[in-house]
Parts: sequence; structure tokens; C-alpha cells
Amino acid sequence: MAYTNFTIETDTDGIALVTWDMPGKSMNVFTAEVMDELNAIIDATVADAAIKGVVFTSGKSSFSGGADLSMIKSMFSFYQDEKAKEPAGAAQKLFDLVGRMTGLFRKLETCGKPWVSAINGTCMGGAFELSLACHGRVASSAKSVKIALPEVKVGIFPGAGGTQRVSRLTDAQSALQMMTTGQSLTAVRAKAMNLVHQVVEPDQLIPAAKQMIKDGLKPVAPWDEKGFKAPGGGIWTPASAQLWPAAPAILRRETSGNYPAALAILKCVYEGLQVPFDTGLKIEQRYFTQVLQTTEAYSMIRSLFISLQELGKGARRPAGQPKTVLKKVGVVGAGFMGASIAYVTAAAGIPVTLIDRDTEAAEKGKSVGEGLVKDAVGKGRLTYEDGAALLSRITPSADYADLRDADLVIEAVFEDREVKKAVIEAVEAVLPAGAVFASNTSTLPISGLAKNSKRPADFIGVHFFSPVEKMMLTEVILGKETGDRALAVALDYVAAIKKTPIVVNDTRGFFVNRCVFRYIHEAYDMLIEGVPATMIENAAKMAGMPVGPLALNDEVAIDLSLKILKATVADLGEKAVDPRHMQLVSGLVEGEGRLGRKSAKGFYDYPPKPAKKSLWPGLKDLYPQKKADEIDVTVLKQRFLATIALEAARTMEEGIVTDPREADVGSILGFGFAPYTGGALSYIDGMGVKAFVSLCETLAKTYGAHFAPTALLKDMAAKGETFYGRFDPYGVKAAA
Ligand code: NAD
Repeated sequence: MAYTNFTIETDTDGIALVTWDMPGKSMNVFTAEVMDELNAIIDATVADAAIKGVVFTSGKSSFSGGADLSMIKSMFSFYQDEKAKEPAGAAQKLFDLVGRMTGLFRKLETCGKPWVSAINGTCMGGAFELSLACHGRVASSAKSVKIALPEVKVGIFPGAGGTQRVSRLTDAQSALQMMTTGQSLTAVRAKAMNLVHQVVEPDQLIPAAKQMIKDGLKPVAPWDEKGFKAPGGGIWTPASAQLWPAAPAILRRETSGNYPAALAILKCVYEGLQVPFDTGLKIEQRYFTQVLQTTEAYSMIRSLFISLQELGKGARRPAGQPKTVLKKVGVVGAGFMGASIAYVTAAAGIPVTLIDRDTEAAEKGKSVGEGLVKDAVGKGRLTYEDGAALLSRITPSADYADLRDADLVIEAVFEDREVKKAVIEAVEAVLPAGAVFASNTSTLPISGLAKNSKRPADFIGVHFFSPVEKMMLTEVILGKETGDRALAVALDYVAAIKKTPIVVNDTRGFFVNRCVFRYIHEAYDMLIEGVPATMIENAAKMAGMPVGPLALNDEVAIDLSLKILKATVADLGEKAVDPRHMQLVSGLVEGEGRLGRKSAKGFYDYPPKPAKKSLWPGLKDLYPQKKADEIDVTVLKQRFLATIALEAARTMEEGIVTDPREADVGSILGFGFAPYTGGALSYIDGMGVKAFVSLCETLAKTYGAHFAPTALLKDMAAKGETFYGRFDPYGVKAAA
């Protein structure tokens, strides 16, 4: 029989090599069709007496990314549809549906013939669960091999036997660590954890896998053998008595109870290890069915998988523009940002000319790249040769004429209109026709800067975040006159450096900084009210934010906050800022010399390492302090998320952001907006716009008019709309 996604070759020893190679896809993923074919392959290999065993591998450079999450997403609509038809039976139908993969893998495991998974590259999620159901697992020693059960990162968990098999192969603590963090394992680490049997040179992978079968591999999983005991002896042992009472507390410390899937992993392992394997699978299936009904799972899959991919693949790229393969990029300004922008560009294989006021400054910028390369080589993430090749692509210079053959120039000079004007003119004097000029400004509107340009259609903003080499988001800002070609070139560039773009219309603070400063300003309000700084920071983390607002303000620099407040007053008048904020910030900067982390003094004190930062005790003396029991932490959490979400809603209302996917993905990648919500707008959609409006009205009564719901929100609440329904990114009014 011919299969679409698999080929089968049986050798003279009777070993069938099943190769998974989906046509037209760069990576193998589980779809309904793949599962049908795998089911048929199991039947066919069992029925064929000439076949002694099966080696399962991939025809791609990676093994597989696991389940197609669009398929998982469709389970949500399946459940909603079923619930509408027959509420009582919907959960049972979802239970049966999610059990399909579990059943298929169990069938493989108990088919009576030995299967060996030959893991040749990245092996994630469902693909590793399939491998775990095989009787043998051999992994290539190639660096590209990464093994993980990363489902928790998108709000679900390994639901095709993963929680049961991993916890029966390795100790419970390592199993929990692996699955609740979604961490990637090297092949060697996976072997040390007893999750693979052998690690071999890449060219020995298939021979070694076949040899396992020839050596008489038993087609029986350890847990199907009589007398099987889980590593460490299961739940009722002294070692487990150390682990299990603490486990929920540790999880709570790490997740603040915001991630239902992480808790479900704990329950699956704890309950599953006390029962026979098949019952354990049922327990897992039951919790998976529950998790699939949560708003968190739905929103996380949508934003952190589907939207992220769509934006990365150019969802906002204008139609009809040919793809630009950048032959050379210029970066002007080799300072903090420019040096790193040059590095990430060269890392993507693109030659860069790095310009500063003199050669020495340009070379200093290149030395930042040298430091990053040294670090990467030291950590084994880059070979010495690749590092040298990367650096050879960065040419420092003080001569603008070296930009005459650049396709794109990114400006990262001082945040000063006059300095930028001079640079724009100097660059345009040599830039070839059709090349694009991008500014990395963080506060100056692009349309204003473009007034200095003779070719405003080729002028655009490409706003990076620090540290550039780590932050995955880039804001692409359209000036009033920016043309489609400039947008296409900017998006092609962002795709080349493997970052995710969001396309934003020009406004003060663009999208990310507008939201970030709302977060920080809410913390200023709380400080002024007398909320202890520790409570402010902890409440933000409990709400799901990765960094407290005061720590974040220290990172971005408090003097920058002061500069922005002053610029806002200068441009928009006194009323545009809260005078109490101005007083707080200028007091810290000008009165106390506390500029943030860079001066080792901000909201925190930063003693020399290894001592850790701690909140500045003087904060207590700035405002009369409230007692902890006078403060409702739930309200503090709500205030942080609501003020950011409201700002995100305002950017939609003003047409600054036009696609909810961008607000959601931008808020998570840009400043870590509570990922379990799926992003700032999904947070609103998740609770329902009506509930959000009512929450804002309540908050506005006590905490200020900035919480007042906007006209758009009230209208949406009245009509029962969602952001994904009203601003449907797919142009169909179906998705809600
Ligand atoms: P920086 O002071 O570290 O670097 C600026 C560099 O520009 C310096 O090396 C300086 O010598 C050079 N320069 C100044 N005038 C020049 C000229 N006429 N020709 C060539 N080079 C010149 O500043 P930075 O923090 O890297 O910021 C640069 C830009 O990036 C600013 O517009 C800033 O708003 C923006 N930005 C900064 C951050 C951040 O976190 N620092 C984040 C996003 C965007």
C-alpha cells in the first residue's frame, strides 16, 4: 500500500524501515491523516509475517515537531459545537477525541512486534510520545537533536501517554521538571534520564536501531512486564515523601497557579503512578479533556503557536511585493543597540557595514559582536569557524560612502532629532535608489523623522528591543508616507534575522512602550498610595508578569522615564502627565541620583555580585505605608493586567494596531504580558468584554479615570463582541 506521508522499505533481515516524510512540509507533524496512515502501517506490519520488527525514523533533518496545533485548536471548536448541540454529552465526545492518539500509540506498543524509534533531529511533543511507545529508542549524537515535551508552553500538556511513560522511565522529580517546564534535552541528557536507550553517531543511527531488533528486543514495554516498579519505587517510598508534599508548593511558587496544564501534569504523574498503566492513561486523558476546556489553553495555543507562526511567516506582508534577499545591510550608530543589531544581522548571514562617527567607535561596536561570539563558542552554541565567519561579515567604517550598495540601512544613533536629521541626509546622499532607510528610534514619531527624508515612501521604523540578541520581537512602524515596498523589505529583513514582527502605525511610544509605561505608572500609583514595594513587585509576578514593574523600570532606566515625562509635558502640556509621577521620578533621579540598574541604584539597590539586588529601603519613607492586611492583592493583580489591556484596546481603537494577533503576540514577546492569558487582548476576550468593562468601571471608581472603559469597549460589550470577532484577522466573521 502507498502512503502519502510515509515510505516503507523492508530489508533482507525482515526489518521494515518506516520513514516519515510529509510532502510539501519542512517539518513532520501529526495530523488526522498521519494518524490514519500510522494506524494502517501498524496493521500492515503486524499482518506481514515476513516483517520481524520496525525502525521508525524521519526523512527530514528534524524528526518531528509533534502534533499540528491547528488540529488541537480545532478540538476547541469541536467541543463548542458539540456543547451547543448536546451539552450533556460534549465532554464525553471530547474525551473520546483526545484519546485517539493515546489509543494509537498504545496499539503500537502492544502490537507484538518490536518497534525502534531512530531520532535523527528535533523530536518534540507527540513525536517523542510516539517514540516513548516504541520498545527501543536510539538518538543521533548530532547537536541538532533536541528532545522535549514542550506542550506546557502553549497551555496544554503531554496527553498521548507522555506523563505516564516518562514517569515510569525516569524518577518522578526529573519527569516533573521536564514536563512542567517544557525544557529541551540533549540526546546525552535524555539517555542519562533513561528516556533513550542509545546515543550513536548520526551515520550509525539506522544500523544501531536495526541491531536492537536483531539482538532480540522484546516487543513489551517495561510497565507491561509482571512485577514492574516505577523508578524510585513509586509514590509510597521515603524518597517520594520528600518530593510530593513539596511539589505543589514549588509549582505554585513558579506559576502562581496561573497554568492549569502545569498542575494537571502533577496530578497525572501522582495519580497515574498509583494505578496500572492503562488506568494511568485514562487519568491523563481525563485531565487533558479538562485542560482543553480552559480559556488558558485556547488563548495560549492561538497566540503562542498559531499567531506567532502566522506573523513570522509574513501575515502582514503587503501582497504583490517581490521578496528581497538582502545582500548588504548598513547600521549607523555602533552604540548599545547598533552593535547588537549588526551582530544579529551578521548572524543571519547578511554582510553588514557598521558606521559610527569615527573608525574607533565603529570598531568598538564590532567588539560587542566579538564578545557575543566568544560567549556562544564557549557554550558550544557556535563552532569557532562559524563564529569567525559571522564576524567577518561585520565591516566597521566611518565612511558613509560604504553604504552605496546597501539594500537597507538601520539608524541607531543618539535619540536626538538633529543628530538623526544629519544622519538621514548623509545616508540618503549615498544610498542607491530603492534602498530602504529604517530608524530604530524608540520615542520619536517616524512621520516626523521622515520629514528629513527626500524619499519618505522608503522610510520606516524598525524598533528593536534590548537585549537585541535575545528579544524575539521587532516593531515595524509605518510613517504616514511609508510605502508597501519599504514595509515588505523591513518584514523580509525581520524574517531573515528570525524575529517576529508586529506592524504598528505611528504614535508616541508605538505599541509596546505605550503598554509598558502603563504597567510602570500603575506601580507609581501604588507606591504613592502607600502599597509596600515588595507587595507591588510580588503582586505583578503573581499576575503572571515575568519582571516586577519597579525592577523593569530600573532596567529601562528611571532617568529615561523622567526624560519621557518631560518630553510629554513639552509636547502635550502639563495635563498629559500625572504631577505625582513627575515628583516621584524627578525625586529619585535628581534628588537621590537613583537612575536605575545602570547606576547600581534605582527602586532596587544593586550591590556587587554575587550579592543580589534588594528593594531600596528608602522607598518606605517616600509615602505613608499601608499595612499589608489593608491591601487586596487580587485587586493589585487586576490593576496591572487591566491597565495594560486597556492601553492595548486603545491602540486598536485608534488604529495604531489593526490586528489583534499583533497586540497579543507583541504584548507577550515585548514585555512578557502574563502568557497564560494569550496576550493583552485575549485577556479581555477571555473574560468577556462585558466583564472587562465592568471590572474597569469598578477600578475607575477607586483608582482613577485612566481605568474608565473606552467607547469601543462599551460598544463591544453592548454587542457581545470579541476582539477576534470584531477585528477578525482572517477576514471571516467566524472566528471569535
Ligand atoms: P548609544 O548612545 O549607545 O549609541 C548611539 C551611537 O550612535 C554611539 O555609538 C554614537 O557614537 C553614534 N552616533 C552618534 N551620532 C552619530 C553620527 N552622526 N554618525 C554616526 N554615529 C553616530 O544609544 P543606543 O542606546 O544604542 O540608542 C540608539 C537608538 O536606539 C536611539 O534612537 C534609541 O532611542 C534607540 N533604542 C534604544 C533602546 C535601548 O534599550 N537603549 C531600545 C530601542 C531603541
